[in-house]
Amino acid sequence: MCYAIPGKIEKIEDNTVIVDYFGEKRKALNELAQVKVGDYIYAQGGFVVSKISESEAQSILSVWKETFFELQEVDLRLSRLSLNDNDADKKLLGVLDKASQSKELTRDELLYLLELKDNNALELLFKTANFLRQKYHKNSCCVHGIIEISNYCRQGCQYCGISYHNKELKRYRLTKDEILEAARDAVEVYGFKSLVLQSGEDPGYSALELAEIVKGIKEKFPALIFISFGEIGTGGLEKLYQAGARGLLMRFETSNPKLYQQVHPGMSLESRLEHLRKAHEMGYLILTGGLIGLPGQSKEDILDDIFLAKELHAEMYSFGPFIPHPHTPLLRHPPARVEEVIKVLALARIIDHTNAKILVTTALETLSREAARSSLLAGANSLMLNVTPLAYRPFYSIYPNRAHQSEDISTQIESTINLLRSLGRAPTDLETI
Ligand code: SF4
Repeated sequence: MCYAIPGKIEKIEDNTVIVDYFGEKRKALNELAQVKVGDYIYAQGGFVVSKISESEAQSILSVWKETFFELQEVDLRLSRLSLNDNDADKKLLGVLDKASQSKELTRDELLYLLELKDNNALELLFKTANFLRQKYHKNSCCVHGIIEISNYCRQGCQYCGISYHNKELKRYRLTKDEILEAARDAVEVYGFKSLVLQSGEDPGYSALELAEIVKGIKEKFPALIFISFGEIGTGGLEKLYQAGARGLLMRFETSNPKLYQQVHPGMSLESRLEHLRKAHEMGYLILTGGLIGLPGQSKEDILDDIFLAKELHAEMYSFGPFIPHPHTPLLRHPPARVEEVIKVLALARIIDHTNAKILVTTALETLSREAARSSLLAGANSLMLNVTPLAYRPFYSIYPNRAHQSEDISTQIESTINLLRSLGRAPTDLETI
């Protein structure tokens, strides 16, 4: 999106480049041929995605120059943490003080934080997570675009509105040309540097066809491509990596094998984890996480979920709320509470403070329009905007009444820019060195 800053390459070591953003140095992997020291580039998710001319970069940087430092000041102000002079519970202050010093919390301490209910206590927890986010990631925030290419799915996940349980749903599958057109708009018109291509487990596309689509996008529109097509097998992952995909979005939803089995009939947690492990070995960036509020899910389960995401080398954590869909078996189960989900985001930040990018899911925004702001102030630093053609969006109804369903891309971008600016966040999502 237009909310992206070009950086200047300062140093090249093998396939790693050091990029300068107004004096701040960040690191990225480079796969582009003919990139040299002094070139201006856009980078996303740790990868160089495109090179731009010096004149174009200078004109964008002149607009950003003052704003960049102003944003940092706003972020610093909003992420200050004071655990002194507080009449909060001494145990809470002790645990949060330990967390704020980046010390590892015990399992009991983490469970204690997950059990918090009092609003003042939660506020302190969220502030601590935000403090850690600022300490390790500065004001970086990454913004991805997602294109939902098909709502066909052969699976029967009990919570999912596009599963085979939903007989009422009108199904769609974008053609290759429609997908390329959507990618073109996202990259060339709206300036996205990172795209997620998502569908149900749709037998209507072969791995080869999906790879052709990814290749087609990579050849024409420079962007970091994440795939999210469900369990496509090791061979499928390999084909898509060769075609240029560099990230895999695949949530395991729950680390509890029994619960997994209950809500995913006919599927296996081991197979899902195997996909994630293999993808990491192949070089994919991993976006993973779980669903909060499943029937019978315990706080222990949720803590295990965060640790599992960490063990799977999550580049980005995605934890979203369960929301009941009327045409699924779990239609009567209540939705997760917003604070419970934000608590999980805050815990993920405390557990993996140095590495994690933490996503604010659209599902959470569906439960509360304030959720994006609250989550970004509780350790989150990543957003995803829906760039699926408007005509298809209502049919990707994994849960009902999705936020931003009928908002055009420009409107979503405008409100995102306003939100991020008000919080002092800037679009440089690379590792600080
Ligand atoms: S959660 Fe994914 S795999 Fe399961 S039914 Fe929905 S789209 Fe299909």
